[in-house]
Amino acid sequence: MYQADLMEHAARFRPAQQDPTSNLSACPALVLNADYTPLAYYPLSVWPWQTAIKAVFLDRVDIVASYDRKVHSPSLDMKIPSVIALRQYVKHSEFPAFTRFNVFLRDRFQCQYCGNPQQLTFDHVIPRRLGGKTTWENIITACAPCNMKKGGRTPKQAAMPVRRAPIRPTSWQLQQHGKRFPPNYLHETWRDWLYWDIELEA
Ligand SMILES: [Zn+2]
Repeated sequence: MYQADLMEHAARFRPAQQDPTSNLSACPALVLNADYTPLAYYPLSVWPWQTAIKAVFLDRVDIVASYDRKVHSPSLDMKIPSVIALRQYVKHSEFPAFTRFNVFLRDRFQCQYCGNPQQLTFDHVIPRRLGGKTTWENIITACAPCNMKKGGRTPKQAAMPVRRAPIRPTSWQLQQHGKRFPPNYLHETWRDWLYWDIELEA
């Protein structure tokens, strides 16, 4: 079949049972890289079932495990993939993008002054008015109360030491941090591919 036909074919799939209570969106596929490690840990790399099935028909992925749940098309029945592996290895860039999310992940979603995991904001360690830059090395996760308390002062002036000196992390380091945050949803077939239990305490 040509690619267009394949896409068309995948598009014709519909749920096996049109039961409004059966939630197909609860059947995402865990996406593994070609080396069978998750493409990303946090957020965990998962695709909706439609995307996973299209990728199967386009020969871009191998099916590693499946749900019992089937979908039908006019010409075939297919179990919904629960774990798929990319055929082509996706190389991660060495350094992650400097984003709010990645700063939180570097700091493990904890205030770097008091450890509070709630009401998280960002703080310039050296305040902007004192020339502090918006960079990996000067932005840290801080809870709102600490941020207020510190105000426009340096950590030394405020007597609020930073727990971990902010650094520019590597992608590998962020992946390690991501392993600390298991997803809410974890299908049994995923467990072999996610090693949440071997956390390394830094
Ligand atoms: Zn705090």
